[in-house]
Formats: sequence, structure tokens, C-alpha cells
Amino acid sequence: MINRPFIVCAILGATAAGAQDRATPPEAERQLARAIYKEMVEIKSGFTTGTTTPVVEAAARRLKAAGFPASDIFVGGANPKKANLVVRYHGTGRQRPILLLAHTDVVEAKREDWSMDPFVLTEKDGYFYGRGTGDDKAQAAIWIANLIRYKREGFKPDRDIIVALTADEEGGGPYNGVEWLLKNKKSLIDADFALNEGGWGESMKGTRLANDVQVSEKYVINYRLEVHNKGGHSSLPVADNAIYHLAGALDRLSRFSFPLKTNDVTRAYFSAMSNIEKGPISADLAAVAKGDTAAMTRVANATTAWNATLRTTCIATMLEGGHAKNALPQLAAATVNCRVLPEDGVEYVTSALRRVVADTAVHIAIDGESHSAPASPMRDDLMRAISAVTTQLWPGVPAVPMMVMGATDGLYLRAAGIPTYGVQGIFYDRDDIRFHGRDERVKVQSFYEGQTFLYQLVKRLSGAPAA
Ligand SMILES: [Zn+2]
Repeated sequence: MINRPFIVCAILGATAAGAQDRATPPEAERQLARAIYKEMVEIKSGFTTGTTTPVVEAAARRLKAAGFPASDIFVGGANPKKANLVVRYHGTGRQRPILLLAHTDVVEAKREDWSMDPFVLTEKDGYFYGRGTGDDKAQAAIWIANLIRYKREGFKPDRDIIVALTADEEGGGPYNGVEWLLKNKKSLIDADFALNEGGWGESMKGTRLANDVQVSEKYVINYRLEVHNKGGHSSLPVADNAIYHLAGALDRLSRFSFPLKTNDVTRAYFSAMSNIEKGPISADLAAVAKGDTAAMTRVANATTAWNATLRTTCIATMLEGGHAKNALPQLAAATVNCRVLPEDGVEYVTSALRRVVADTAVHIAIDGESHSAPASPMRDDLMRAISAVTTQLWPGVPAVPMMVMGATDGLYLRAAGIPTYGVQGIFYDRDDIRFHGRDERVKVQSFYEGQTFLYQLVKRLSGAPAA
């Protein structure tokens, strides 16, 4: 996934000094994580060229070799090429299970577009290069490596720890692994809450700014606006013209904005931002966190990311119409893409659109499916644990809750009643996000720090005393 409000312009005092010792795993653990990572990256699991089954089969082999019984490992899915893996590490059962999720498919990568082979894990200049190094095989490899480590160390969690590696997040179906598991094997992945991709550490020119936690996400509704007309010869024009109807509707839409609003997650986000940002905007951000509508307007006008954080948006993205230069159009149509706040329902958005279009000649229909899901609650236990481990590894760096604009598999889990939090502790420079792009890469040090962060976080959430 991608597409999120970035921390806008902060400089924080936290330095790398000391972080390396605290956050670097022991050599043997590093080697294990790297070996799993390499194996996963080098299996082509793009939607058209590959399959996810070999990725999970490789993980299953490693788990079995580490002593996980076959009865605790499930491999299967909607299609033989699109298998998912679910493995359970048993705890005492004092608390309900925790689900650790990562997807195993990747966006396609062509050798000729890249500086190196995208399906070879290349370590160069302090980075790991390869398709999926960031999205999402780092987290997938780390979950498996850490689970093996817990077992070897004899860690006794107070809840089951479930790892699910799933198919087809990027392709958007039809084999989406999380959707399939919820429908067919819900008991295998049912959990108190889940940790997933969608949040990561944010740094600027090597300085760590914040450890972002994705708590909710907007969802998508695509609309098709259509005007039909009997048409006719263009030499005999009439006022009732399909293109004019549509153009009028789109013009009215261009001047419309959904109301500004905040929710628990965005209030917490703006509150954290007010401590990070410098200058006059800082006071406005604090006011937004308290629900001040005048400040919301100023903040929404400051950046498109903050505007998108504060309201549902709908924007025209595609257009078609007419069939001949000398004919009155029989059809004019547009696609309107809406990114909807979790608390705004489909009905609400549709009726707002009808009101704005205000023309019965313009037929409005939802194009495709739309999956809405509630935000995950801002659970105190979880946010406290994330903050504590973040501070311990990177003193001075805050954990910042976020709502993101893009979509992850967390949407399916939230809709099924499993609150999901995107958190990785893997830091990326905000100007160097290469997910889905060429020469995708992750800093070697950041990968290993993420391994430590997630190792400690899951332990802490599973009853281990604070390290
Ligand atoms: Zn992803």
C-alpha cells in the first residue's frame, strides 16, 4: 500500500547514536531473518507472472524445521497458485490471540525497468534492493523469523500468536487471501486484534521523525455518471445535450467540498503533529485536534494531504462521450472517484453526490464494489506498548496514529470485527518511498531495527514484562 499523510516538515532531536546497539538483533537472528527475506524476495509472486504458493511453502518448510507441528500450520487458498499460510504459536490463552499479517504478493517488476534484477535480493550501499523488499516481504520475513526465535527461546506468551501470510493484496482479487480466510477459515485467524503493514517509521535525510501507526484508512467508492440522449444531427441542435448535462454536473462537483471533520484517530494525529511542526501552523494543528472548525479550514488549505485527512473527497477521473463529430451525443459519462472517511457511509456520499449534481438527467451509479470498514479503536494498551517500544529503541521519536488514504487488507479485518493496526518500525526516508516503483529498497539497518521493534512489541503485547 502507499498514499498517506506525511509528517510535513519536522526536525526532531533524535539521533541515530545508540539506536544501533539497542535496535540491532543478535547476529544469528539477523542471519535467519535475512535468509528468509532473500528466499521470499527471490520468488516471483506478482499477479500475472507469479504465484504466492511457493512463498508460503518456503515459510512452512522453515517453520516445520524449527519444530512447529504440521497441525499448527495451514497452507491453502482460493486457488492452488494463490495459497496463504496461517501458523499458530500457542500461548497460555489468558488473552485472546494476536494476528500478525503480511501479504506475499508483489506489484510486477520488469528487469529492463530496473538497475538490477528485481527478483534477486541485492545488498548494496547500505540498502536491500528487490521487488517486495518494502512492500511487504520485509514484514512477512520478520514475522516468520521472530516466531521461530520465540519458539527457540521458549517464550511463553499469554495469548496465541498467529502469523498469516496472504495472497493478492496488490491485485485486489479475485483471490484476496484475507477475504478468503475470513470466509472459509475464520477460526484460524480470529483474534483480539491484528498488526499489519500500512504504518512505518518516517525519517527525513536520515533523521527519524515518527513511528507511524495506521489505525484507520479511507475507503473507495467509484461512481459512474451517465447521461443518455436520443441524439440527432448536429446541424439541428437542441438545448437538451448529454455533454452539457454532464459538464454542468461536473462543474457543480468541482465547486463542492464535503464538510471538514475529525475523528479519534485524526485528532490524535493532529495533536501529535502540533508537537512536531514548528511555526504558526503548530497552534492551528493543536486547535484542529480540539475540533476548531476555523483552524480546520486553514489546515485543510495548507496541504492536500491534510485536506484529504479532514474530509471525504470526490474527484472526476475519467470521461467519455459522443460518437461522431457531426452528431448530437447519445452518451456522456464520467467516473468520479471518492475517498471516503470511515465514518461516512455509502448512502451519505451517494445522496450528497445526487444533491450536488442536481440534475435528474444525470444517472448516478456505483461502479464496482466498495468495502467500507470502521476505524480501529485507539486502544490504550496497544498505543502505550507501541510508544514504549518506540521510545526505548529511538529515544525522542513519537509514535503517531494515522488514517491513511490508500487501502490495505486491514479493511477486511476491521469489517470482520478484528481491529487492525499498521505498524512496522521500519524507517523510510520520506523522500525515498519506492513501493511499487523501480529499484524498491529498504535500508539494511532499518530492516534489522524493524525486526527488533516487532520482536519486542509482540512480546510486550503477549504478556512479557517490559524489557
Ligand atoms: Zn502492501
